[in-house]
Amino acid sequence: MDFHDYINKVRERFQRSDFAPLAYVHSYGCQQNVSDGEKILGMLADMGCGITDDRSSADIIILNTCAVRENAEEKVFGNIGELKRLKEQNPDLIIGVCGCMPQQKHIVERIRRSYKYVDIVFGTFAIADFPKLLSEHLESRKFTEDTEERNSVPTEGMRVIRSCFYKASVPIMYGCNNFCTYCIVPYVRGREHSRLPEDILNEINGLVSDGCKEIMLLGQNVNSYGKNLDEPVSFSELLRRINALDGDFRIRFMTSHPKDVTFELIDTIAQCDKICKHLHLPLQSGSDRILTAMNRHYDLQKYMDTVNYAREKMPQFSLSTDIIVGFPNETYDDFLMTLDTVKKVGYDNIFSFIYSKRKGTKAAEMEDNTSDEDKSKWFRELLEVQRNVAEENYKRFEGRVMTVLFDGESRRSGYISGKSDEFIIVEAKGSTELIGQMKKVKITSTRYWAVEGEIID
Ligand code: SF4
Repeated sequence: MDFHDYINKVRERFQRSDFAPLAYVHSYGCQQNVSDGEKILGMLADMGCGITDDRSSADIIILNTCAVRENAEEKVFGNIGELKRLKEQNPDLIIGVCGCMPQQKHIVERIRRSYKYVDIVFGTFAIADFPKLLSEHLESRKFTEDTEERNSVPTEGMRVIRSCFYKASVPIMYGCNNFCTYCIVPYVRGREHSRLPEDILNEINGLVSDGCKEIMLLGQNVNSYGKNLDEPVSFSELLRRINALDGDFRIRFMTSHPKDVTFELIDTIAQCDKICKHLHLPLQSGSDRILTAMNRHYDLQKYMDTVNYAREKMPQFSLSTDIIVGFPNETYDDFLMTLDTVKKVGYDNIFSFIYSKRKGTKAAEMEDNTSDEDKSKWFRELLEVQRNVAEENYKRFEGRVMTVLFDGESRRSGYISGKSDEFIIVEAKGSTELIGQMKKVKITSTRYWAVEGEIID
């Protein structure tokens, strides 16, 4: 039996008992996890459940967890703890915990030991087995679990319930082969495997004909897309095929690993009109010594070659990055190299983090002689430098016309806010009726975190 058969089985069971349960799904963490949550919602709806945002009225609660940070895991345990009261009020309530956390043995043991009212636990590989697990639990009323690792995650043909009609995330691959020493992802999401290009194109075609304006292609390392397919297709080729689809939409992607970004990819971005002229290229550190300790497989020279080539092809090209401050044994000299790179590249946005130990990774075993006090001091220094860099950089947008997809209200009354192709926050006078629409905006003023302008069409 495949997941469709189990979906039918559960739906028939609910129909027989004249019961239409309400389901609540909460996804933590990255967009990949949110995308998995949208599939879980789709399966629940197919099983005949109503969907609710209010967990206190739900008959089925699924927490789709993230394992990237240990303190975030503790918060999830806190949230699981809060569900005990609901279970006491409603003993028929079904509680499921899924996603990256249960893909670690010690987490499942802790749930079984301390959270005995959890009914179903499944990992990232077993998403398609959720209807089977639910069916088994409904029959036995016993704890059911599937956290086995598999070679691939079968998700084709699943209904997806998205919360937003104008922006959609489309996974193009799953897993990661890179084993950066600070990262837990390869241990909880397995090895890289790509979806077939035709499945991706069909999904995007459907979204665009439903009015979707922005497609975000997702993968832990999109640049190695297609390498494991029977008929390999490069990421550049996939982008060109998506760009050739009919419709008025734009394409983003994340995450790009600097070791795999080719000049061919930059040429593709430059030549394809639907691809946003922005690249999120995680630097992590400007020191080759630290990059080696992180197992990143590129050095600063390779990174800068990519940046320089992109700027040569697209002088206004926008770059954002991730930076880890205070990796084990990082010195101030290492940090200064990061700071110097931030100034040289001139990022429009930086997502920076103070290194935090992640149990189960190689970096967690490293002796660390850098003090927490230094790490915090350097972090503040980085924020200050980036603020100045962005403030200066954003001035280049003044007088320019940007294409903006409006996605929310601004904090200022009478203003709305959105993102430009360059991934810059743009504010303009306008009503919430414009949310979900793509408009041209002429920029009139800039700050260090956003720009402001007038809608001109
Ligand atoms: S590329 Fe590195 S940081 Fe990114 S998911 Fe893979 S191991 Fe983690």
